[in-house]
Amino acid sequence: VKLESAIAMAQREQLYPSVILFGADPEARMQAAVRLAQATLCDLAPELRPCGECRHCRRLVWPPLDEETFHPDLLVLERDRATVTSVEATKQFLRRSQVAPFEARGQAFIIASAESLSGEAANALLKTLEEPPERAPRHFFLLTPSQFDLLPTLRSRSLEIFLGASGRPDPEAVEKISADFSNCIDCWQRERDTTHLLAAASVLESAGDFKDPRATDPWVMAAAAVRSAADRSEGERSRCLHLAMELLDAPQIRVRGIPARRVLEGLTVRCFAGPA
Ligand SMILES: [Zn+2]
Repeated sequence: VKLESAIAMAQREQLYPSVILFGADPEARMQAAVRLAQATLCDLAPELRPCGECRHCRRLVWPPLDEETFHPDLLVLERDRATVTSVEATKQFLRRSQVAPFEARGQAFIIASAESLSGEAANALLKTLEEPPERAPRHFFLLTPSQFDLLPTLRSRSLEIFLGASGRPDPEAVEKISADFSNCIDCWQRERDTTHLLAAASVLESAGDFKDPRATDPWVMAAAAVRSAADRSEGERSRCLHLAMELLDAPQIRVRGIPARRVLEGLTVRCFAGPA
């Protein structure tokens, strides 16, 4: 889901209680969470949220600049140890979700480094999410470089919002890969010979360094190239779009230890040679 659709959900007061914001850089993740908090708690009519000007929006900022820009219903949990957000800090933070909001109609809880939650801390959060809030709407925003760093149980209860690759893919490089990929797909369309699909997969392998199983950037780059190829190829447009989506999900196959080349070949063959 894109940030803009999540803001639209917040305007309709239909935003999930738990929202994962992943990708981009830490600052962009924080600002996206703050915007969603504003969209949730803004005083204006739904279609005008977030206005950026009302008594809530003006103070829903992070970090607060001074006392004037402090809002008691925006709570942020930051990593308290070198690499971990501890269970003690997390429980203390979660306790504040048991009280009514001070000023706004709800509360916004931001977990700045959700990937660093200790196992116990993540389970405490999960428990809180399972108990519906009694008094007022509350939203948890889980910020993380990659959604795959979070427990599957947390992910399944959350709306996932992708904010873009950390290093935005270079458009020229995307176009180069996309053109080479399209050529292979054209050959496949003419000859229906699987070697062309394997060649297409190996073109995608040039999208970056796939060695680190947790790296998401090369997959994002490959997906961008295939998405752009969809616009060149009328006959295979929907298969290209399907493959682009699968590529964005591919890191979860990759972390199981399957080599990137095999994942790329498997997905490409399945999307193009498989049933439509
Ligand atoms: Zn406002």
